[in-house]
This record gives sequence, C-alpha cells and structure tokens, in this order.
Amino acid sequence: MPVPKTETVRENGPQPTGEYEPNSEWGQFLKAWKVFGGDYNFVSHPETPVVSPFDRPNPPIEDKRQYTVTQIPEGLETEDAFLERYRKTDAILITCMDKDASGPAYEILKKGGKKIMFVSIAGGITQLTQEREHALTTILSYLGKKGDHIQEVLATNHDETCGYIKASLDNPLSEALGVEVGSKEEGTATKALILHHMEKVGINNFFPQKVKPALVDIKRETEDAEFDYDFSGVQPQSLEEIVAGK
Ligand SMILES: [Zn+2]
Repeated sequence: MPVPKTETVRENGPQPTGEYEPNSEWGQFLKAWKVFGGDYNFVSHPETPVVSPFDRPNPPIEDKRQYTVTQIPEGLETEDAFLERYRKTDAILITCMDKDASGPAYEILKKGGKKIMFVSIAGGITQLTQEREHALTTILSYLGKKGDHIQEVLATNHDETCGYIKASLDNPLSEALGVEVGSKEEGTATKALILHHMEKVGINNFFPQKVKPALVDIKRETEDAEFDYDFSGVQPQSLEEIVAGK
C-alpha cells in the first residue's frame, strides 16, 4: 500500500534544504516514520509533542507522565544530518509510546550509559497491521545498513494493558485472556507477541547477534519499570493464536 504523500515529501521543483528523492532508500525511510506520526490519536492525546529519536522522552507535566512518539524532525531530514546524529549512538530502543513504558525504559538504558536511538511508537515491536509492520521493517532495514556502530537493539513492548493492543482487540489483553492485569500470564503472552513480531519485522536480519527481546515490566507501586529479559520457554505466537488459547 503506498504511503500517503505528505508536504515534506517533494517530488520536483527547486531544491530547498531537506529535499530528497521520495523513492530512494532515504526517502522510503522518512515516509515510513510518518506512518506512526498520528499515534497519539490511539490514546486521544493528539496535542502531545513528538520527539526526535535522539532526544529524551517527553518530561512529566505536574507529576503526570506524558506519552512519547518519536519522529524525524525537519532539521534531520537530510541524510547527512541524520547520519551524523545516528553515528553517535550505540543502542536502539524500540518501545511502545505508552507513558508508563517509554520514559522509564529510556531512563534505565540511559543510566546504563547507553547513547540511544529511540523508536517510540504505539505497540513498540508488536505492529498489528501490514502497513505499520512494513513501515517498521523499512525503518529497521535502513538503520541496520548504516548501523555497524550499534552494539545493542532492544525490541520491546510492555505489560499492564498496552493501549495499542487493546484498540486492536477492543479489550485489554488480560481481559481477552481472562487473567489479571500485570499477571505473569499477561507478561508471558506479551513476550510471545514480541517474539512473533520480531520475526515478522525481520529485525534479526538487520542486526544479527545484536537484538535482545525484552518485556518492559511496569511497576505501578514505584511508578517505575524494569526490563524482563527472561524469555526461556516462550514460543512466538500471534495475537490471534494467543487469544484463541493455542
Ligand atoms: Zn502500549
């Protein structure tokens, strides 16, 4: 399916700064990002600012965390400008834009000294439509080709009801499964989804030996989160398979 043209994609005319070939690899990369540009609508907060992949997540307002969607800002819409920033990073974090997942996950990695390229979109690695899945594949394929300097890629989504998955199911995942929010069962189902969508997006092909799946385990009591890397015994499963109880 063709990505709708946006005003920042110019096919002809003079060559202002930021001009690029829409069908080049770089042009495809920019267009792919725009597929996620309206993701705040999933949570009815369209006014929330988008953030560059090289910036920190949106800070809390009056102690309330904000959602964070990352997009390529105008100043980085030339390939050289983008790559100059990208080459200074050493880790890629793919998370859901959820306010309780994106910020805490970012801060954990940052405290570990990582220089982060941040892909924060609704659902994180678990993209449930073909258009969104292809867009994430396009983004990761490009980042992989230019990513010899990257040491680690974290492919995540989170527990405690991902709003994006809820929108697809019309119900929280826990409810569809008949389990408690934040339960081990919800976490295990989310891990199975993460593995399934890692395969679908093809992330291991773009970053061989560098990708780690992780569940962002939201801790409501401490308003924090942890990475859960324990995927032992978890098999990849699609959302349909999980809900059907296969
Ligand atoms: Zn989510």
